[in-house]
Amino acid sequence: MTESRQVVIIGSGPAGLTAAIYTSRAQLSPLVIEGEPSSTSDQPGGQLMLTTEVENYPGFVDGIMGPELMQTFREQAARFGAEYLTEKVSRVDLSHRPFGVWVGDPDAPEPNYAAEALIISTGARALMLNLPNEERLLGYGVSTCATCDGFFFRDKGIAVVGGGDSALEEALFLTRFANQVTVIHRRGDLRASKVMQQRAFANPKITFRWNASVIDVLGDNKVTGVKVRDNISEEESVIELSGLFVAIGHEPNTSLFKGQIELEENGYVRTFSGTRTNVDGVFACGDVQDHHYRQAITAAGSGCMAAIDVERWLDDEA
Ligand code: NAP
Repeated sequence: MTESRQVVIIGSGPAGLTAAIYTSRAQLSPLVIEGEPSSTSDQPGGQLMLTTEVENYPGFVDGIMGPELMQTFREQAARFGAEYLTEKVSRVDLSHRPFGVWVGDPDAPEPNYAAEALIISTGARALMLNLPNEERLLGYGVSTCATCDGFFFRDKGIAVVGGGDSALEEALFLTRFANQVTVIHRRGDLRASKVMQQRAFANPKITFRWNASVIDVLGDNKVTGVKVRDNISEEESVIELSGLFVAIGHEPNTSLFKGQIELEENGYVRTFSGTRTNVDGVFACGDVQDHHYRQAITAAGSGCMAAIDVERWLDDEA
C-alpha cells in the first residue's frame, strides 16, 4: 500500500540530514530514506562515514570524527520527529504529483511512498580505475575506504592512487598502520591543497610515484601487487604491496533520476534559484548538485536551503 508523505528526503549525508532537521522542526514529518551499507561511499551518512577526522567543520575546535558527526546530525533530526528508512530507493516517478517513490521491487505496480515534495540528497560516490582485476579484488586488498579497511594492513605495504585531497588524506591515515605508503599519481603535480601536500611531504612513511598509472592489480585471492606504467618512459613495472586504495574522485548518485529531471553535462543535478530542480516540487542539495565546493559544511548549508525552499513551496501550494 502506498503511504502518503509531505516530504521524502532521499539520502542521509550532511545535506539530507540538515534538510531533515529543518523540515522536522517545520512540522513536515519528513521521511529520510537513508540508503544501505556499501563500500563505495553511498551508504547511510554519506561520504563522511568513510573519513576520519574532520577538522574544518565549524564548531569543533579539536575536530570530530566523520561518523560521529553524522550520528549527531541523525539524532538531532530524530529528536524533532524525522523518520528513517534504511533502504535504497529503487525507482522514482517524477512525472506527476504526488511523486512516486519505490523501495525494494522497482517493478511493483504501486510506489511505497507518495510524496508531495521530494528532496534529492543522494550525494556522490567514489570513482574506480575500471580495471577488471580491481573489481575482482575489491574487498580483498582493493579498497575505497582507508577508515574502513586500513586496520587490515598493519605493517604491510600499501599504495594510494590519486593526487587530490582524498588521496593524501587516505595516505596520511594509512601511515598509522602501514610500513610504507606509496602515492601513485598520474602526473608530476598534486591537485591537493597546499596544507595536505605539506603534511604528506613531511611524513617519512609516504613516498610518491610520479607520472605513473596503475594498469593492473595482481593477486589470485588477495592483492599482492600492482602493475604500473610510467607515463613518460612508458616502461612497465610491478610494485609489491598488500593494499590498493583508490582515491581518484567521485561521481554523483543520479542514475535514479536520469531522464526525469535535468542534469548537468557531468551528471550532477541542475538547480535553479536556490535548490529547485526543473521539476516543480523536487529539490536537490549537497554533493549531488555541487561539483564545485563539495564540503560537508556547504552540503549542510544547501540542505538547510532545500528545507526552507520546500516549506515555502508547500505553503504556496496550499
Ligand atoms: P579530486 O580533487 O577530483 O582529485 C582526484 C585525483 O585523482 C586527481 O589528482 C586526479 O588526477 C586523479 N585521477 C582522476 N581520475 C583518475 C584515473 N582514472 N586514474 C588515475 N588518477 C585519476 O578528488 P578528491 O581528492 O576526491 O577531492 C574532491 C573534493 O573534495 C576536492 O574539492 C577536495 O579539496 C575535497 N576534499 C577535501 C578534503 C579535506 O579538506 N580534508 C579531503 C578530501 C576531499 P589529476 O590531478 O591528473 O586530474
